[in-house]
Amino acid sequence: MAYDIQKIRADFPILHQNVYGKPLVYFDNGATSQKPQSVIDAISKVYKEINSNIHRGVHYLSTRTTDKYENARKIVKEFINAGHFHEVIFTSGTTASINSVMYSFGEKFVNKGDEIIISAMEHHSNIVPWQILCERKGAKLQIIPFNENGELLLNEYEKLLSEKTKLVAINHVSNTLGTINPVKEIIKIAHRNDVPVLVDGAQAVHHTKVDVQDLDADFYAFSGHKAYGPTGIGVLYGKEKWLEAMPPFLSGGDMIKTVTFEKTVYNDLPFKFEAGTANFVGAIGLAEALKYITSVGTENISLHEAGLLEYGTKKLEEIADLKIYGNARNKASAISFLLKNIHHSDVGIILDKLGVAVRTGNHCTQPIMDKFDISGTVRASFAMYNTKEEIDVLFDGLKKIIEMFS
Ligand code: PLP
Repeated sequence: MAYDIQKIRADFPILHQNVYGKPLVYFDNGATSQKPQSVIDAISKVYKEINSNIHRGVHYLSTRTTDKYENARKIVKEFINAGHFHEVIFTSGTTASINSVMYSFGEKFVNKGDEIIISAMEHHSNIVPWQILCERKGAKLQIIPFNENGELLLNEYEKLLSEKTKLVAINHVSNTLGTINPVKEIIKIAHRNDVPVLVDGAQAVHHTKVDVQDLDADFYAFSGHKAYGPTGIGVLYGKEKWLEAMPPFLSGGDMIKTVTFEKTVYNDLPFKFEAGTANFVGAIGLAEALKYITSVGTENISLHEAGLLEYGTKKLEEIADLKIYGNARNKASAISFLLKNIHHSDVGIILDKLGVAVRTGNHCTQPIMDKFDISGTVRASFAMYNTKEEIDVLFDGLKKIIEMFS
């Protein structure tokens, strides 16, 4: 089926506006993506028609909201091909998912002298939790380096694995460099050493087909708001055997079976990890977003975005004074770059006045900036609704900026 970009764009109301008198070009999708009307409607429908707290109510509205919430879990399960629906835990986002594993898995399985492996291209959300754990437990963080193109050095990774390694935590797609990491291979190597792997999929689920069973991931984390869904909702997938073995992280309502002052019996999965009133509206909105992605087709989206990446890279490479950071062979649709002698913030501010929204700064990946000895980059990240014509607007804007500064 042909990719109907006009139909897709028509589904995203926010795109059809002018900023500073110029048509909006939204290239800040890596930070958060825009929402289709169906997601906005689904959220509004909950509040208009069925809003009621989930799980504990016997009345009509509560059972309807509960059904919708649990159906959202099934939709996530199918979307990532989890083995069981109780392996899908709703959290507030990727950061919360990673922190849950850090506290819960870390509490049970990480001890003094143990090691955790991450990579040098992680988002701060997949660095700082592990630093805190290491500090708390007297464990050590080991770092997989990457080359000038932004590709992980797998031979170095293999050398880091040892009987001390308790977990590998790695991003699927780098938000700054765009690198699609070979997570399946990384997991296979870890499993050969009996080490579980957490994958930070914040930048992956909406760009490429994710099958957690095929990857054999032990944990997989992602956020709703980057995947065309609402903010404040995310997913932690975990293999049953790990989730069963791990203690609850947050405690309170819903995660219990019985409570007496002498003893509390925890609830079954997935509720053991969903203390308090869950963001059921967010989960229902996320399910709608995943349905939207599925209706367009993940492969179609990947193809469209690969076309944008190729076109955008070629176009930007025409600019002599522009350097791209991240040239991995396997790359998702984000381009980080700098213009010679022009600060990234200045580029971002002027592009904004031309209607182009990009992100500037270190993108929560300071170690990547340190590796390249820069303070930040300009990042244009593309989504399913972006077009080559919009890339032309970016290109013309950059030419204008160079002229202004020359
Ligand atoms: N990991 C990666 C690779 C990201 O790009 C981000 C957000 O930019 C996160 C984690 C954190 O996601 P959130 O802020 O939704 O928890």
